[in-house]
This record gives sequence, C-alpha cells and structure tokens, in this order.
Amino acid sequence: MIILDKVSKVFQLEAGSYTALKENSIHIRKGEFIAIMGPSGSGKSTLLQLIGGLDLPSYGSITVDGVEISKLNEIERTIFRRTRVGFVFQNYQLLPMMTVAENVSLSLAANKTPKADIKTKVQRLLQDVNLADKENHFPAQLSGGQQQRVAIARALAMKPKLILADEPTGNLDQKNGKDVLQLLSRLNKEEQITIVMVTHDRQAAEKADRIITIQDGEVVQERLEGVELR
Ligand code: ATP
Ligand code: MG
Repeated sequence: MIILDKVSKVFQLEAGSYTALKENSIHIRKGEFIAIMGPSGSGKSTLLQLIGGLDLPSYGSITVDGVEISKLNEIERTIFRRTRVGFVFQNYQLLPMMTVAENVSLSLAANKTPKADIKTKVQRLLQDVNLADKENHFPAQLSGGQQQRVAIARALAMKPKLILADEPTGNLDQKNGKDVLQLLSRLNKEEQITIVMVTHDRQAAEKADRIITIQDGEVVQERLEGVELR
C-alpha cells in the first residue's frame, strides 16, 4: 500500500539546511493500522505530509496504492490527495462559519459530486460517526471529540483507502480520545481503510497493529504486537 524507499527530507533555511528525515525505508501493507511515535521534532508530521502528497521528498521515492507520488506534478498530486487520502489533524481544521453538514459537504462538492447526492451522502457520513443529530450545529457548538468526528466524516467523504491522522486525540480528554480511537479502529477493521496515525499517547498507539518509532528523522524501532522487528 505504502512504500517509502530511502526517503529523505531536507528543508532549506536561511541559516543553511536542515535534514528532517534521513533515508527512511518503510513498508505499510494494505489494511494495516500503524502508529507513529517519537519525540517532538523527530519528523513524524513531515513523514505524514510526504505520504499524503502535501510535500515532496528531497531524495528517495514514495509509492502509495501503486502510484509513485514523488513523481507526480502539482496538479496530479492535488487530485491524488483529494481522491485517495483522508487527512485528520490534531486541531480538526473545520471551517468555523460553516455548519457540520456544510463542512462535510465541502469535500464532496470539491470533487464534483452531483448536488442532489450531496445531502444524502452527508447524512450517511454523519450517521457513520454518530453525529446525525448535529448536522446544523456550528463547530464551536460541539465538543472536541464531536468536532474530531466531523473531521473524520469529512475525511471519509471520498471513500479513501488511506487515512493519515496527525495526533487525532492530542486535544481530547480521555473519554473523547477513546471514542475517536475506537472510530478509527472500526474504520480500519470494517472498511479495511489503511490508517497511519501519529500519536504521543502510548495507550492509543497500542491499538495499532504496529508501532513505528522515529528519532532524529530516522526509524529506530518497529514493534508488531509486542514483538521487536528492529
Ligand atoms: P511534534 O511531535 O512536535 O509535532 P514532529 O515529529 O511532528 O514534532 P515535524 O513537524 O515533522 O516534527 O518536524 C521535524 C523537524 O523539521 C523539526 O525540527 C521542524 O522544525 C522541521 N521542519 C518541519 N517543517 C519544516 C519547514 N516547512 N521548514 C523548515 N523546517 C521544518
Ligand atoms: Mg507533528
């Protein structure tokens, strides 16, 4: 599903260059639920951005679902992101002036779903995340966990085979965090959506099939259900 071959990311700064990721080779199988852990600044978000085609690697190649995204031009990468990947962020990234239903419908509208279908699709997506009764609420009228579930509904709108989640429970209390995690887990098991989730929360990470630990831009450890892989 995801193959990173010797992927490096070097940021050019005024003071020189900074290597955020160093020659990482990672394989993620279709349907896997992966947790990425590691200290602040170790390169976790940078890695997710590269896998999702939000940015390009400086060296190496990235293949997602058979597409070598590191070779796509900017327009092709935009289409790839919109149609294949669901993004979920720590701060939800909902539009505050739009209702729950409008927030979810935006990604459908952007992908040319016929207008007549949008309403039913949005309702179904909100049912999936157990928020059918909140469609006319504004984000500020929801709890953090509910906002994150809206963001997940939005991510699901294009039926992605891959969800990239950057600290999805980072702003949530234990109960809400657990609900969001359970939702991701269910999507992984029932819909066979591959999930790559960055998290600082060891308990959340234990829900994944495999934990990949990054330090100073390098994968230093991989654990599969308690077994050390490297
Ligand atoms: P955190 O747990 O705090 O979110 P992280 O592991 O997600 O950390 P990244 O955001 O991937 O860390 O950043 C890795 C390193 O790359 C950091 O030192 C950061 O300052 C640097 N970096 C990230 N993005 C850029 C950028 N656009 N330009 C320059 N440097 C960057
Ligand atoms: Mg980060």
